Amino acid sequence: MGKKRYSQKDVSKPMTESLGIEDLLALKTSAAGHYYAVHQRYFSDVKLTCPACGSTKTRCSKVVKRSFKDILWDDAPPVEGEEQQFKVVDLTFYQRYLRCDSCNNSVFPEPIEFGDKGCRYTNRLSDALADGTFRFSYKKVCAYFGVPTSTASIGPIMRRRIQYRESLLLPVSTPKKLGIMEVLFFREAHPVVFALRDEGVYCIGILEDSSEETVLTFLRTLDTAKVDTVFIDPVDSIRSAAATAFPDANLVVSDECILRYARDAMLEIIHEDGKRFPVKFKDAVLTIPNKHLQSDYDRRQVKDGMESRPRLKSAYDKHQELMAGDWTYETLGQWAHSLPDDLPEFETLIDVIDLFEQEINDFIETDEKPPDFYPTALQAVCEAFKGMPHCIFDVLRARCFLTISHDTIEENGKKYRLGIHTTRLTQNMNEISKNIKEARAYGL
Ligand SMILES: [Zn+2]
Repeated sequence: MGKKRYSQKDVSKPMTESLGIEDLLALKTSAAGHYYAVHQRYFSDVKLTCPACGSTKTRCSKVVKRSFKDILWDDAPPVEGEEQQFKVVDLTFYQRYLRCDSCNNSVFPEPIEFGDKGCRYTNRLSDALADGTFRFSYKKVCAYFGVPTSTASIGPIMRRRIQYRESLLLPVSTPKKLGIMEVLFFREAHPVVFALRDEGVYCIGILEDSSEETVLTFLRTLDTAKVDTVFIDPVDSIRSAAATAFPDANLVVSDECILRYARDAMLEIIHEDGKRFPVKFKDAVLTIPNKHLQSDYDRRQVKDGMESRPRLKSAYDKHQELMAGDWTYETLGQWAHSLPDDLPEFETLIDVIDLFEQEINDFIETDEKPPDFYPTALQAVCEAFKGMPHCIFDVLRARCFLTISHDTIEENGKKYRLGIHTTRLTQNMNEISKNIKEARAYGL
């Protein structure tokens, strides 16, 4: 391939300027909605280095036509209250592939900065799509920009933007007390990591899965010497990871966790046996201590509803007994083993009580209790996850974690991140869920 197909004369200066991608030269064949371009090194004699052997004895072996969708933003600043104007265009890029004469077999494409491997959108279009998807559904965002919705590309698009936004985050200020809770999102368990501070509960991480490796990798980003108590969920892999990361810390399973597991079991039973139960908001009413019910009327309604539902009644009574609280490990064990056989929903909790004796005991004995607002904060987070529409994990995490600013603190003249206060986290998540559910048009 000696002769080049294009020469300097084929380059259009105005089209190159209006395209405005560094290193790219637009050809005269370009039109307003469709650009054709080559890399500026196309016309230079600089030899590219072989990525396999480092030799510069390389030569062009072929040119591959690659099609991208690209976005051109309007230079004019947007009118207040309006979105910035843009145009989505096609971009055909003639990418050169080079052969290395030193290691013979090696053929590689010339490196480019404006687009990722395998992605049919330029990076700047990907970024626009990702920024929109942080707050709206991907489908809606694609419709707004007028590009095809390819679910295959959403992962790489989001990961790229997430990496960038994450690189802007400050290092975490490691707290003395940590909480690790598993939340369920469309049947997948994701550990959420919290910093427990006097001022509140802060979310510092949302992890893809509960494997020991994933959890440990995250925990190792913290200053492990600072942590003295970890409130874990009773999951083997989480316990192992925490024990490895914080060998000197106290790992405990708190009353919050036991009550959360019990509440989840209770909710399952309510959904199974509580159809047409004669109270409003039965999930809430039937899972709080009876003495907290608003009125005698409520109490009577609960009683009436239980009459024809014996299994629900026995679960309710057992749950009330547990919530009355102040247990020792021994009384907790007695409670667990007094549960009737027809309430299999409680089996997970029974296993937890049996298998995490040490951690439950350590909690009962420690003076390091979580703050009073801990249970409410965690419950709000669980509810917010329940309300989020389905999406891939990267999007879920980005929506929760990268759309709101983190609280910061200054220590020894350096700025650190506290995480996101759970009140703001859940507000933000609920707002996003609402945005998406109301199917509000993007940009309005
Ligand atoms: Zn080579």
